[in-house]
Formats: sequence, structure tokens, C-alpha cells
Amino acid sequence: MDLLEYQGKQLFARHGVPIPEGRPAATIEEAVIAADEVGYPVVIKAQVLIGGRGKAGGIKLANDREEAERHAKAIIGMDIHGFTVHQLYVEKASDIAEEYYAAVVFDRGAKQPMVMLSRMGGMEVEEIAEKDPTAIARLHVDPLVGFQAFHGRRLAFESGIAEDVIRPVGTMLERLYEAFVGEDAMLLEVNPLLVTGDREVVALDAKVTLDGNALYRHPETAELRNTGAEDPQERMARERGLTYVKLDGNVGILGNGAGLVMSTLDVVAQAGGRPANFLDAGGGSKAEEISNAVEVILANPKVTGVLFNIFGGITRCDEVANGLITAFGSLDISVPFVVRLDGTNDEEGRRLLADADLPNVHVEKTMLEAASRAVELAGEAPPEDADRPGPSAGADPDADPEQ
Ligand code: GDP
Ligand code: MN
Repeated sequence: MDLLEYQGKQLFARHGVPIPEGRPAATIEEAVIAADEVGYPVVIKAQVLIGGRGKAGGIKLANDREEAERHAKAIIGMDIHGFTVHQLYVEKASDIAEEYYAAVVFDRGAKQPMVMLSRMGGMEVEEIAEKDPTAIARLHVDPLVGFQAFHGRRLAFESGIAEDVIRPVGTMLERLYEAFVGEDAMLLEVNPLLVTGDREVVALDAKVTLDGNALYRHPETAELRNTGAEDPQERMARERGLTYVKLDGNVGILGNGAGLVMSTLDVVAQAGGRPANFLDAGGGSKAEEISNAVEVILANPKVTGVLFNIFGGITRCDEVANGLITAFGSLDISVPFVVRLDGTNDEEGRRLLADADLPNVHVEKTMLEAASRAVELAGEAPPEDADRPGPSAGADPDADPEQ
């Protein structure tokens, strides 16, 4: 589960990580009141679950009330890489002497948390790695030993940060590590970690990903889920209990069993197409769940074709066919469907589909044939969103989808 910047900063503050003073605001009026309270100059910051807000125009300095109102008006409702701004954060403006980078992530290979520090903050970590790979200091922490003062000193020396801030930066890393462990986080990123003109060290940005599977241990943070900021299809799927991950192609995918869906994505890619999603309908899916899942897949406007890849074990292919027939009865479906049914009751399933004679539904025998057909019928995928920043250092492609 990802937190908005201001929620991440509130979490930081609870663990003693210094942050500038600020207030969240959901409307222009609230932003102006917050700015008056915090005191000018302030920075008005768009709260969306994606980085690169600064470059996208989602972060603006306001020297007085009139400017605060103007910026709040401009930022609220704006689109940042596909995310609409519903929430603002009004923060006391900081003067910047140095911008560093700090993060605590999981290194799955090493099975240990890894703390990173760089003197080149303010840009994406991938960019730092490209410009100067030696500019990022990394250190693994044995979870049984925890983060020790010497870890902080080692990172500080290796990253080459200014000598006078080695101690406070070390303290901040120690507290970030405590927050990482204490909150069951998957990622904490501070970019930039700021040194002000007065040589104060504060977290100017906060990117926090919590382990969705550990939320039962943190009922108060579980409430922070940003349903408004979540991707609409992912939210819809979560509310319906489906395991769904949105991707950026145009071929909608439904399968049963995570392994089968993963290989379906691969086969679609092999056939020259781009999947629009991962959707595991699960074992033993009933007709109603299938029709629910179709609705989620089609709610993504990029989808121009759908591939059903079902291997019937516990799942019965006739139930899946009935689900599809129900979906066609209740939804206005205009995109082609390609269906491959194999296993338990597959003949019955295919017979049901043939009898229903659904418009634009094509049955194929094998997975590869089905994928090729789906790619062909779905047509060209739209170009990739080129200026959308990629996943950051801590993004975890093989993490379990949240429950
Ligand atoms: P991001 O673009 O989404 O990563 O948002 P950040 O919170 O990291 O802000 C981006 C950049 O805006 C920072 O690297 C700073 O250079 C600048 N910025 C943010 N807040 C302030 C501030 O209070 N004062 C000044 N001078 N610059 C700021
Ligand atoms: Mn940032």
C-alpha cells in the first residue's frame, strides 16, 4: 500500500524523522487557511501516488495568500501522469543548501533490508545511478542486529556528504530504519533529503510503501488507504475480491491461477501484443465472479480485446462459459473476446458458448492460438506513456498483489 507524501511525512514524524511544518488541504479554501497558518512563503504540493510532481508542475512556491490561492486552484484537479490531484499539502518553504537521497528498501536477493544514501538527490535514483553509479552508497543491515551508529557513519563517508551533517544524517537513517521495521514497510524513500541554509537536516519528500499483507498489525495505518488516489480499476477489483494488476497494454486478460495468468501474459507478449492487466479469477470461480471480472477488465478504456485462458481443474469450464454469457447479457460489450477452455467440463463450456452465439466471441483450442487471435483482433497497442517515470529503486515487481 502506497502512502501520499503528507501521510508518509506524518509517519516519519511519529518516528522522530524531522520534516518541515505542513498541513494537508482538500480544497482551495483549506489550502489558503493552511498557508496562513504555516506562514509564508509556502510550497503547495500535489498529493498523488507518483513521483516527478515537481517537473509536472505539481509543486509551486507561494509568497503570499493571493499566490497560494492561485497555485492551489491550478494544482487541484490537475492530471499528473494519469493521476488526478484530489489532495494538496501546504508546507513551509525550505531554503535548499544540499539535496541528498536516502532510502530503505528490501534486497530480496540478500534477504536483508538495504539502506542507501547519495549526495546527489533531487533527481530520480535511476538517473543518479546512470550519471554516477559510485554516488550511491549501499549497506545491508542484519535484521537481528539492527541499524547501528557505525552503519550511518559508513554510509555518510562512502556517499561523500558534507562533514558537518554526517551526524544528523546518520540519526535520520537510524530513525528511518526504525520506521521501516516498526511499520512493516517495503520501501521508504527520502528524495530529497534536505540540508537547509541553517544546516538543518529534514525529509523534504516522502515515498512510503507499506506491506499490504501486514496491515492487520497496523489498523490505524490501514485506514490511510487512498481509495480516491488509487487506480480506479484496481480499486474496483479489490472491492470485488479479485486479484488484478493493471498493465499498460490493450489486451485484457482473465485466467484462473496466478501461474497460468503469468504465462498467459508471456504468451501474449510472444504473439506481439501487450497485456492490459493481470487478473486471476481464482480456483473454482463461479459464473457471477466471472461476470464481475469481465466488468473490471472492460472498465479499463485501453482494452480493445479480451483473452480468456481457462484451465479447468477445480474451476469448471461450463461455469466460466455461463459467467461470460451473463456478462454479455448485462453489459454493453463491443470488444472481441477470444476464449480458450481446457480441462474440467470444457466440452460443455464450449457447447454453451456455441449455443449462446455471442457476438464477436471466438473459441480457440490452444493457448498459443488463442493469444495470437486475441492480439490480432485487439489491434495495435497505444504507444507507451513515455514521460511517465519508471518504478523507483524500491518498487518491487515480484511483491504479492495486496490482499
Ligand atoms: P517530486 O518531484 O514528486 O519528487 O517532489 P519533491 O517533493 O521531491 O519536490 C521536487 C523538488 O521541488 C525538490 O527536489 C526541490 O528542488 C523542490 N522543492 C520542494 N519543496 C521545496 C521548498 O520548500 N523549497 C524549495 N526551494 N524547493 C522545493
Ligand atoms: Mn521527490
